[in-house]
Amino acid sequence: MIKYPEYKPEKVQEDLREILPEDAISKSIFERINNSLDPYTGATDITPDEVPYAVVWPKSTEEVSRIMTYANSKQIPVYVRGSGTSLHGAAKFHRRGIVLNVRRLNRLEINKADQYFECGAGLRCLDVKERLAKEGYFLPMAPGSIRVASMGGLVSNNTTAHAIDSALGKPRDYVIGLDVVLATGEVLHVGSKSHRRIAGTDLTQYFVGGDGILGIITNIRMRLMPMFKSAYGVAFFDDLIPLARSAQRIYQENAPLPLFLELLDKRCAELTFEIQGLPKPSGPLIMFHAMGVNEDAATYKINRIVEVIKKEHPIEAKRITDVEEWDKIWLARESALPFVIQGGKGTFALAEIVSTVGGLVDCMKDVMHMGKGMPTLDELGDPYIFGHIGALTFHPTYIIPVVWPAEKKAEAVAEMFQKEADLNIKYETTGGEWGQFCKRSAFFVRRYGEKAYQLVRGIKKVFDPNDILNPNILPEE
Ligand SMILES: Cc1cc2nc3c(=O)[nH]c(=O)nc-3n(C[C@H](O)[C@H](O)[C@H](O)COP(=O)(O)OP(=O)(O)OC[C@H]3O[C@@H](n4cnc5c(N)ncnc54)[C@H](O)[C@@H]3O)c2cc1C
Repeated sequence: MIKYPEYKPEKVQEDLREILPEDAISKSIFERINNSLDPYTGATDITPDEVPYAVVWPKSTEEVSRIMTYANSKQIPVYVRGSGTSLHGAAKFHRRGIVLNVRRLNRLEINKADQYFECGAGLRCLDVKERLAKEGYFLPMAPGSIRVASMGGLVSNNTTAHAIDSALGKPRDYVIGLDVVLATGEVLHVGSKSHRRIAGTDLTQYFVGGDGILGIITNIRMRLMPMFKSAYGVAFFDDLIPLARSAQRIYQENAPLPLFLELLDKRCAELTFEIQGLPKPSGPLIMFHAMGVNEDAATYKINRIVEVIKKEHPIEAKRITDVEEWDKIWLARESALPFVIQGGKGTFALAEIVSTVGGLVDCMKDVMHMGKGMPTLDELGDPYIFGHIGALTFHPTYIIPVVWPAEKKAEAVAEMFQKEADLNIKYETTGGEWGQFCKRSAFFVRRYGEKAYQLVRGIKKVFDPNDILNPNILPEE
C-alpha cells in the first residue's frame, strides 16, 4: 500500500491559504465530515483518521490547477467531489487528504451559433436541464438524483441514467470537449468545438466515463439537442413475468424504442402511488415516454409500443394524454428509492443488475427471488423491485431492519452484492450507472480478469504518477 506523508491539518490549511482565496478553503469540521459521507450502504460514517485536512471550493480551472500542483508536490491525496451520490463508494475514502468540491465551477454558456453549451463540472444536472429547456433544448441526462447530481459526476460515470441507451446514447455521444486538470496540475483542453466527431484517438473519451481516476473535469462542452415532442403511456400487469416479456418484445419486434421505459413492482407502486395521490395500482407497471420530431411522430411510437405490449395481455395498457397524470406517475417512479426507504423504515441496500435483451425474462425471475438460499438475505424476503427495464437494468432493494446488529446488516449487504455480481456474471453484463471501481473493483477483476485491472492501474499511473487523485477508486490490492 502506498504510504503518503502525514501532515497536520493546520499546516495543509495554511499552505492552501497561500494559493487560494480565503473563501475557497473550508477547515470547519462539519464541512470536512459532510464532504466525506457516502450513501453506499455500510459507508455512511467516517472515523477520525479519515476526516480530510480541508475542503477546497475552487472557482476556476486555474485554481484547480494550483491545488493539484501543490498536492502533487506534497503527495497529498485529493478526492474530487461532485455531490457524492454515485452509490458505489466513490465518495468514501480511507486515505487522509484534501476534498476538492467542484460545486463552485458553475458557469453555463449556451452557444447557439456553434450549437453547443459549456458548463462547469459543479452545476446541478437539474439546473442545466431547466436552463436548456427555456432555450428549446433537451439535456440528455435524467438520473433519479437529478436534483443533486453534478454534471461532472454524471460525465465521469458516463451515465444518462433512466434513458434507454439504444434510444439516446450515453454522455460519451454528446460531450464534444472538456477542460481537464491532471493530477500533476497540468491543464488539458481536449476534444473539439465542432459537431464533427474526432476520428481515431480522442483524449476526451478517456475522461468521459473515466471514473474520476485520470483527471479533474472542470468544464464540459456538449452538443445541443433540440427539444422534441413527447408522448406517454402506462401498462399494468398481473405479474412481473409478462411485464418483462413485453419489454423484451419492444426490442425483439423492432418497435420504436422509447426514451424511458421504467418499472415499478406492485409493492413499490402501491407505496409511491399513495404518496402521489394516485388511485391504487392494479399491479406492477411499466411507464414509457417516447420522443418525436412532432406530436404525431411521438404518438405513433407510443401507440405502436402499446400495441406490442398488449400481446402480453396486461390488465391495462394505454397512452396517457393528461400530462399532469404522467407527471405524477413519473414522480412516483423517480422517487421510488426515497419512498421505499421511508416506507420500509430501515437501512436500504440497493443492487444494479443488468440483463441482455434475450435474458430479460429469466433475469426478472432471478431478481424476484435473489435472496433465496442466502443465509441472511433470505430472512428479508423478496426485494422491492424498480428500475429501468427498458435500459435492461433492475434495482432490487432490501430494507434492513434498524434493530439488526451491525454485523448482521453487513452480512445481508455482502450477500446482496454477491448475488448482484453472480447475476451480472451470469448474463455477461456490467453496471451501466454508478461507475466500475471502488466497491465494484473485485467484480471488475472477476468479470474482465486481473490483466484488465492491471492495465487500468497502468493507465492511471501514466496520468497520475504519484497516485494522488482519488486513490481509493482503484484499490491497490
Ligand atoms: C437517489 C439516487 C438516485 C440515483 N439515480 C440514478 C439513476 O437513475 N441513474 C443513474 O445512472 N445513476 C443514478 N444515481 C447514481 C449516479 O451515478 C449519481 O447520482 C451521479 O452519477 C454522480 O454524480 P455526483 O455529482 O454525485 O458525483 P460523485 O458521486 O460526487 O462522483 C462520482 C465519481 O466521479 C468523480 N467525479 C465527480 N466529479 C468529477 C469531476 N468534475 N472530474 C473528475 N471526476 C469527478 C468522483 O471523484 C467520483 O469518483 C442515483 C444516485 C442516488 C443517490
